[in-house]
Amino acid sequence: MLDDILDYVEDIRERPVWRPIPDQVRMRFREGLPAEASDVASVHATFMSDILPFAAGNAHPGFMGWVHGGGNVAGMFAEMLAGGLNANLGGRDQAPIEVEQQIVHWMRELFGFPGSSTGLFVTGSSMANLIGVLVARARSLGVGVRHKGVSGHRLIAYTSAAAHGCIAQAMDLSGLGIDSLRMIAVDDRHQMNVDALKHAIEADREAGLIPFLLVGAAGTVDTGAIDDLAELADIARREDLWFHIDGAYGALGMFAPSIAPRLAGIEKADSIAFDFHKWLQVPYDAGFILVRDGALHRDTFASPASYLRRETRGLAAGSFWPCDFGPDLSRGFRALKTWFTIKVHGSEALGAMITHTCLLARYLEFKIVTSRDFELLAPVSLNIVCFRHRGQDADRLNAEIVANLHETGVAAPSTTSIEGKLAIRAAIFNHRTQTRDIDELLDAVATLGTRYLAAQAA
Ligand SMILES: *Cc1c(COP(=O)(O)O)cnc(C)c1O
Repeated sequence: MLDDILDYVEDIRERPVWRPIPDQVRMRFREGLPAEASDVASVHATFMSDILPFAAGNAHPGFMGWVHGGGNVAGMFAEMLAGGLNANLGGRDQAPIEVEQQIVHWMRELFGFPGSSTGLFVTGSSMANLIGVLVARARSLGVGVRHKGVSGHRLIAYTSAAAHGCIAQAMDLSGLGIDSLRMIAVDDRHQMNVDALKHAIEADREAGLIPFLLVGAAGTVDTGAIDDLAELADIARREDLWFHIDGAYGALGMFAPSIAPRLAGIEKADSIAFDFHKWLQVPYDAGFILVRDGALHRDTFASPASYLRRETRGLAAGSFWPCDFGPDLSRGFRALKTWFTIKVHGSEALGAMITHTCLLARYLEFKIVTSRDFELLAPVSLNIVCFRHRGQDADRLNAEIVANLHETGVAAPSTTSIEGKLAIRAAIFNHRTQTRDIDELLDAVATLGTRYLAAQAA
């Protein structure tokens, strides 16, 4: 099994990025519950024939869709070790909790957060952003909200129109409601328009509502824009708002000296959500939430009866029980693959890898703006490039190009809409991606575009 999966990673370039699942393979997943035993070798053989070839392909250097990390072998081995250990990180006095706490410590160091701040592994930034909203809610309504609920609340949150959909979802799940989230317009760099934000806060106060939360973006999902975090931090302080940052992938740009200065202000956040499974290449899933006010974070989730009852000796001791800081009781050992990834590679190489993906995006941008066939649709802020092939009925043309790219398995960008125009969106997150992958992407887009336009003209 180890040989097969290491070969997969080593030879991945020779494979298509993605292949559609053949019908007969799909049908085999409809078979019922097996009563009989099978040996591991035969189940593994089925994995090799029916699962491995038909995965999404985000380990492949030609995968440039959505926001997906490529994974890494050190993290993969850690997953194996964690599986064997079968640790449950809800709490108790055990070294796995110390590993998670060491990462909390590293993240405090990275973001300039105080020792009293707290951090927690979660599935991903969707969950981390929800936790951020829940802590902010407890700050404004008091922890009594956990008993009384939110009926008749007047709390209003603010984020940019380019924010990820999980911010609205967090408002929904927290009971505050999506209508209590103001999506503030963005400027031509896709950053939140600060004047529009100030006006919205003022208008809400005049209407008797209570602004309580400002969510800044450190790397928007469409274009990679970073809000002016220092300015947003100032506004949040003046207006007495909780300042949360959705830094799902961008926050870990702190590892890269080329990017960290652009995140200035992030150290002033009240909470930051981010993912190790994106830019840092930790295997899925490994999301994280960092909260400045650790006591409030605990009070948002812990039942006081349980954490005050904690033992001082034996296995039931331990000063930090993660189950007091989020909704999960049983928790896997996500920290170990993250710990291995950071220790094996070191923060400098990880930062250089992040910088490299941004340089590749610059290279792609340069090739686009110096070609007559292509048009750049949004400024390139980090590692995401939105562009399209020129031509009549460009939305259809580019949608066709992307579907054909996927089906030929050459490359897998995704699409998005930029000011009503369908864009090919190349998000370069994979540490295996090189300039030749960028060349192959653009060559394939050009060939498919020319062919489509010729067919339309005929
Ligand atoms: C990926 C992403 C999310 C959601 O994170 P998950 O880990 O997929 O739950 C939220 N915000 C941004 C900006 C993202 O890129």
